[in-house]
Amino acid sequence: MSNRYATTDVILIGAGIMSATLGTLLKELAPDWNITVFEKLDKAGEESSNEWNNAGTGHSALCELNYTPEKPDGSINISKAIKINEQFQVSKQFWSYLVNSNLIRNPQDFIMPLPHMSLVQGEENVAFLKKRFEALSNIPLFQGMEFSDDLEKLKKWIPLIMEGRTSNEAIAATKIDSGTDVNFGALTRMLFDHLKNQNVDINYKHQVDDIKRTSDGFWELKVKNLDSGSVQRHTAKFVFIGGGGGSLPLLQKTGIPESKHIGGFPVSGLFLVCNNPEVIAQHHAKVYGKAAVGAPPMSVPHLDSRYIDNKKTLLFGPFAGFSPKFLKNGSNFDLIGSIKPNNVLTMLAAGAKNIPLTKYLIQQLMLSKEQRIEELREFIPNAKGEDWDIVIAGQRVQVIKDTEAGGKGTLQFGTEVVSSSDGSVAALLGASPGASTAVHVMLEVIKKCFPQHLKAWEPKIKEMIPSYGVSLAENPELFQEIHTLTAQALGLADNNDKKHVNLA
Ligand SMILES: Cc1cc2nc3c(=O)[nH]c(=O)nc-3n(C[C@H](O)[C@H](O)[C@H](O)COP(=O)(O)OP(=O)(O)OC[C@H]3O[C@@H](n4cnc5c(N)ncnc54)[C@H](O)[C@@H]3O)c2cc1C
Repeated sequence: MSNRYATTDVILIGAGIMSATLGTLLKELAPDWNITVFEKLDKAGEESSNEWNNAGTGHSALCELNYTPEKPDGSINISKAIKINEQFQVSKQFWSYLVNSNLIRNPQDFIMPLPHMSLVQGEENVAFLKKRFEALSNIPLFQGMEFSDDLEKLKKWIPLIMEGRTSNEAIAATKIDSGTDVNFGALTRMLFDHLKNQNVDINYKHQVDDIKRTSDGFWELKVKNLDSGSVQRHTAKFVFIGGGGGSLPLLQKTGIPESKHIGGFPVSGLFLVCNNPEVIAQHHAKVYGKAAVGAPPMSVPHLDSRYIDNKKTLLFGPFAGFSPKFLKNGSNFDLIGSIKPNNVLTMLAAGAKNIPLTKYLIQQLMLSKEQRIEELREFIPNAKGEDWDIVIAGQRVQVIKDTEAGGKGTLQFGTEVVSSSDGSVAALLGASPGASTAVHVMLEVIKKCFPQHLKAWEPKIKEMIPSYGVSLAENPELFQEIHTLTAQALGLADNNDKKHVNLA
């Protein structure tokens, strides 16, 4: 059965952090607009945004070594690190605005202070880390970063990692206390609760199966009610495709020229989660290592204290793997179904270029639990298999497209907003740095899709995000002010150890 249904101003497809963020921004900027959400699962934040499906790192390049590549002359390129850090400051400002306005409460339910550390072994890597530290530590965004190759100091910083370490190999770490652990699942749910209070029409168990333009310039969606099996038609002036891994197939259905020659490369993930409270209590940081040679950036191993359900826990990973699904709850036909006449050459080129990566991911997928524990022992030499369980993480769909620099079928590791030239539809593709930069990315969607409103909206945007349009790296005083305000609003100024003890 199919029937035509209501027309609305905005439709958001998917109830992950991206739709949550865009919906919340739009409700502040245009409170009178009607917004409808369709989510195929029965709750918000159940795919990549869920706390067990991602690593919960508030990415701000404090510890992620892949954001600071070494240049051929041996110096460190810090431009990406600055960009990502500034984008996370935008998120923190928006979240602070929501807390200060009582639109969301209890920030400690979604963000906690946690030292971010990078850890490397071997002379060459230690030299790299030292150079990275020297390049970043004088920049206000990275203030407070410390470097050490002193074993006694490292034992204090990371006792669990240093215990039982017998190798004489050089070892060093950096540590910065202004890092965060973010529960993006909790945040997504909070934002959807807020949107519900704002009369946003949220429909769970509703799957968007098709999207096409109507003759009067609207977008018409074919939506299946997964409980009743009925099919409804909904139209809107603006549609945001925030389906995570499910965005690419929907974008392709729009038929917009911008959707052509794009493909997706799915990467699965899993974590080891510690079940021993004594081990969990011995660690208090996110510790990022260096990716193995040939490994993709998203498989950089890290050992993370996490706060989930108000309890401290410890996760290691993610181990990347290969799966043809675009969503954790997706289908094994997702990858093959995304190959269309307009992207087949792009996909074939990507296939040929990425044979080593695919081989690596398949090898990773085949690892036994004991082999994964062996990898964990690089971090925790005394790790015991029985203390760790496997949890399946979310799927990431990396964008494949033709680029000038990389040629046909180049794999992209960032996030991309693809929108129609008239701004009536936009989709978010890609996975990294992901949820941490949701506010920056959704502001990009707003800029691209609502340019006619920007002038009128700018004062409100600046009220919510005081650094909007300003480089914080170039304005240290403004950064200091924002750093203090966001730390206060989000409860990040508190003493780390106090929180550690309370929640351990
Ligand atoms: C292993 C892993 C580790 C990560 N670590 C981090 C990290 O440490 N820090 C960080 O910032 N980011 C991290 N990310 C990335 C981050 O999780 C994602 O960028 C972010 O959650 C994406 O949010 P989203 O709203 O776009 O998608 P999702 O959260 O996946 O939400 C999409 C929603 O759309 C729904 N949907 C899809 N298709 C349809 C349809 N046809 N009809 C109706 N509904 C549909 C889905 O059911 C889902 O609920 C990680 C990701 C993974 C997989």
